[in-house]
Amino acid sequence: MDAVKTKPAKSFNIDEIRKDFPILERTVHGKPLVYLDNAATSQKPQAVIDSHVDFYLNHNANIHRGVYQMSTESTDAYDESRTKVKEFINAPDSREIIFTRGTTESINLVSNTFGRFNVKSGDEIIVSTMEHHANIVPWQILCGEKNAMLRVIPINEKGELLMDEYKKLLNEKTKLVSVTHISNTLGTINPVKEIIELAHEKKIPVMIDGAQAVAHMRVDVRDLDCDFYAFSGHKMFGPTGIGVLYGKAEYLEAMPPYQGGGDMIRNVSFEKTTYGEIPTKFEAGTPNIAGSIGLGIAIDYLNKLDFNQIHEHEMKMLNYATNEMEKIEGVRIIGTAKNKASVISFIVEGINPMDLGIMLDTMGVAVRTGQHCTEPLMTWYCIPGTVRASFAMYNRMEEVDIFIKSLKKAISILK
Ligand code: PMP
Repeated sequence: MDAVKTKPAKSFNIDEIRKDFPILERTVHGKPLVYLDNAATSQKPQAVIDSHVDFYLNHNANIHRGVYQMSTESTDAYDESRTKVKEFINAPDSREIIFTRGTTESINLVSNTFGRFNVKSGDEIIVSTMEHHANIVPWQILCGEKNAMLRVIPINEKGELLMDEYKKLLNEKTKLVSVTHISNTLGTINPVKEIIELAHEKKIPVMIDGAQAVAHMRVDVRDLDCDFYAFSGHKMFGPTGIGVLYGKAEYLEAMPPYQGGGDMIRNVSFEKTTYGEIPTKFEAGTPNIAGSIGLGIAIDYLNKLDFNQIHEHEMKMLNYATNEMEKIEGVRIIGTAKNKASVISFIVEGINPMDLGIMLDTMGVAVRTGQHCTEPLMTWYCIPGTVRASFAMYNRMEEVDIFIKSLKKAISILK
């Protein structure tokens, strides 16, 4: 298949990068778009958009089924994408990469297979106070079914995990620890390596929700030594509806299938069915072929950039915005961890976050408002919700300025 080529390697030049994301040129309400909702979903480079068009224009055929050329092209591109994902997160083996719909499905897959298989009455699963609902509810459903218990790592006011409390929670009843790499609401970067080491000392496996991490840092699952790692394509400049579950082969091989259907079987009879090898054992039915290929193209795109430079640029925006916001009367930033990604959640005294979000939208600034699928965290802070600005590599410092100016203006109007 003629893969859509990403442009040649480039140094970190925001103007060049922005040219690859055509949507950033649009206007909203007659104002230039300032897109600061990257933690919800990122925009897509032209190469990812082109890969969709190319697939449906030239190669569309089901995978793993046909003997004809188009099916072979489609299958090869799908398989190649799995290899790209493997290399991107430094997984030992591409059999350990399972394509899913996204982080949510990856976590549900583990809770429905590993969880159902291993968790019994009286067992415990550890999550943290700052988890997204996607890393709470699947475990809660499982605990409800198994009469097991969900234990929660507490946090401090800054939004950092209390590691001493975490250590106390680990015990012989713990069947799994599942925590987020980066909090989508607070921006906290959790010490996942240490979390994993501590659990492994007690032979407890660890799942990491990497939804917010993969677009902002080099994730190395081998170095982390995590047992499962979940992420979504759409938050790392790839398509929606495609995500990844990385799992160590030893676990994936022992786990029962997630869904039954085509492709995941070896032999089927009415008396007995045997299952295929990993990863296909976990990929029943026709997968999101175009999405998987598009994710591979997003990875190609990211591979041409330097994560250290991305990090440096994002930290500049974060620190500048934080300093400016701290000067605005009535603004309270929620999540002030020492180790933070480019996410700022905040509330403004006397102003409803939703009103602020709507007002900012009229000025062209797209931010998120509400609970960010972290209701228990909002309850912990005793707040109904926040406004959240989240920066990505393609945002400019000038956009941070527009955001700050617009915020001040919105506050003066709404107060
Ligand atoms: N976990 C975290 C930390 C997230 O930020 C999100 C998306 N907001 C999810 C899980 C769920 O991701 P998805 O909706 O792509 O499945």
